[in-house]
Amino acid sequence: MAQQFGGRVALVTGGGSGIGRASAAVLAREGAAVVVSDIDVEQGEGTVKAIREGGGEALFLKADVTNAREVGSLVQTLLYTFGRLDMACNSAGIVGPRMPFSEYPEEAWSSVIAANLTGTWSCMKQEISAMLRQRAGSIVNLSSILGTVGWPDSSAYVAAKHGVIGLTRAAALECAPRGIRINAVCPGFTDTPMLERMGVTAGSDARRQVEALHPLQRMAAPEEVANAVLWLCSDAASFVTGQALMVDGGFTAR
Ligand code: NAP
Repeated sequence: MAQQFGGRVALVTGGGSGIGRASAAVLAREGAAVVVSDIDVEQGEGTVKAIREGGGEALFLKADVTNAREVGSLVQTLLYTFGRLDMACNSAGIVGPRMPFSEYPEEAWSSVIAANLTGTWSCMKQEISAMLRQRAGSIVNLSSILGTVGWPDSSAYVAAKHGVIGLTRAAALECAPRGIRINAVCPGFTDTPMLERMGVTAGSDARRQVEALHPLQRMAAPEEVANAVLWLCSDAASFVTGQALMVDGGFTAR
C-alpha cells in the first residue's frame, strides 16, 4: 500500500517513550524518515531500533528541550542529514510533583515550565525556521486535557499545558500565510511510563479511578493519541490549524 509520507522528514521530541514513541512509529509506518529525539539515549535508541526492524527509516539525536543550544543543534543536524523538515511532534514533557499550590516548590515550578512550555517554544522556534524555507510544514504540540481544565495539586503542569495551547494558537496565526499548520493534541490520561511513575499501574486502585474519569471508562493507548498526531500532520488535515484537538475519551465533554 502507498505510504502517505514517502520522501518526507519528521522530528519527534520525547520520542523515546509513550506518546512520542508511538507517534514516531506511526509516522515511520507511513513512510516518513523520522528523527527521534529524547533526553534518554537508551530509550530513544530503542524507538529507532523498533522502527528499523519494522522496515522504517529513523535516526536518534539526543537533545534536552530545556537547552536552547541543544535544540538548535538538533534541528541543524536534522537539516544537514535530511535537507528538510516536513512534520514535527513536540512530545517531550514531565509531569512534576503533585503538591498543593501554597507548598509547590519553586524549583519544581521552574523545571515543569521549562520542560513543557519553554521546551515546546524552543523546539517550535527552530522547527518554524526550518519550515519557513520550504513554506510548508505541520507541527503538533502535546498539550493535555489539563491544558483546558484545572486539576488540583498540579499548578505548574496545568499552567504549562494551557500555555502550550496559547503558543499553538499564536504561532498558527503567524505561520498560516506561510503554509505552516500548527495544532495541539490534548490527550486524556494515557497508558504510558509517565502514568506508571505516578502509580497508575495495571490493576491498581489509582488506575481504576483514572479510568472512571473518562466516559469511555478507560485510559487512552499511546497509539490512539499518535493517530491524532498522524492525522494532524497529514494532508487530510490540510485546512486545520490553530486547533486544540481533544483525544480524551469524552473527559472534557462532561
Ligand atoms: P513519557 O512516557 O514520560 O515520555 C516523555 C519522554 O520525554 C520521555 O522519554 C522523557 O524522558 C522525555 N523528556 C522529558 N524531559 C525531556 C527534556 N527536557 N528533553 C527531552 N526529552 C525529555 O510521557 P508521555 O505520557 O508519553 O507524555 C508525552 C507528552 O504527552 C508529554 O508532553 C505529556 O505531558 C503529554 N500528555 C501525557 C498524558 C498521559 O496521560 N500520559 C496526558 C496528556 C498529555 P525521561 O523519561 O528521561 O524523563
